[in-house]
Amino acid sequence: MTSERQSRRDIVHFGKLLYERGYVAATDGNLSVRLDENRILATPTAMSKGAMKPSDLVIVDMEGRRLSGKRNVSSEIGMHLLIYRLRPDIQGIVHAHPPTATGFAASGMALNQPLVCEVVIGLGSIPLAKYGTPGTPELAEGLKPYVPDYDAILMSNHGVVSYGDTLEGAYMKMETVEHFAHIALVAHLLGRQQPLQGRELEKLMLVRSKYQGYRSAAPLPLAVSCNFEGENEGDNNVDRPRPSSITESPSSNRRVTTLRQR
Ligand SMILES: [Zn+2]
Repeated sequence: MTSERQSRRDIVHFGKLLYERGYVAATDGNLSVRLDENRILATPTAMSKGAMKPSDLVIVDMEGRRLSGKRNVSSEIGMHLLIYRLRPDIQGIVHAHPPTATGFAASGMALNQPLVCEVVIGLGSIPLAKYGTPGTPELAEGLKPYVPDYDAILMSNHGVVSYGDTLEGAYMKMETVEHFAHIALVAHLLGRQQPLQGRELEKLMLVRSKYQGYRSAAPLPLAVSCNFEGENEGDNNVDRPRPSSITESPSSNRRVTTLRQR
């Protein structure tokens, strides 16, 4: 496990990257690291993620009570605690508002089409959680059905949360989500999409299950995602074999919103 000192430096470093890349504005966003089974190191509220010092960070327990630090902890700490509770494998969490992915979240669209092979291997798909008022338990409730099966989630009319077995891994997933959102937008603007399907998707499943260091249970995008109209959800998914490590998601009846061709 990374030392507290290194974790403080990591949060400051990746907070700065979020700010410099324009994934957050003003005092948006929050980051955290699991220090041990009872302590979470997190960013403070009301502070730019581009201007933090290691001493600005706050340590809270698993109930969100402050154990050390002069500042108040992020108002979204409840979302972080939910993810740490549901996913013992997770050590770091990043929440931001990257503009393209947040545009999808503001349009009620999941990023669930298999348009790019690397994204299918790395994240499976990125679902859309229902809206919840920031700083309230409602927000964490909306994420709950997706946390066990996905490593990055779009938050309706809000932003993105991603998490991994290191803070760096969580940050990399945030970059992947925003980059993929940009590609999906360009494909949409070009007026034609060519999602991976059939045999090619099956081969990606195999690569995904063999991927060294890969720990997510996130399923592949549903075959329905290949259907531009988002219809026949069950039909296209009937005979697709799944490796045992990729189980059927409890959220398989999740909201599926696809980009529609003009
Ligand atoms: Zn936010």
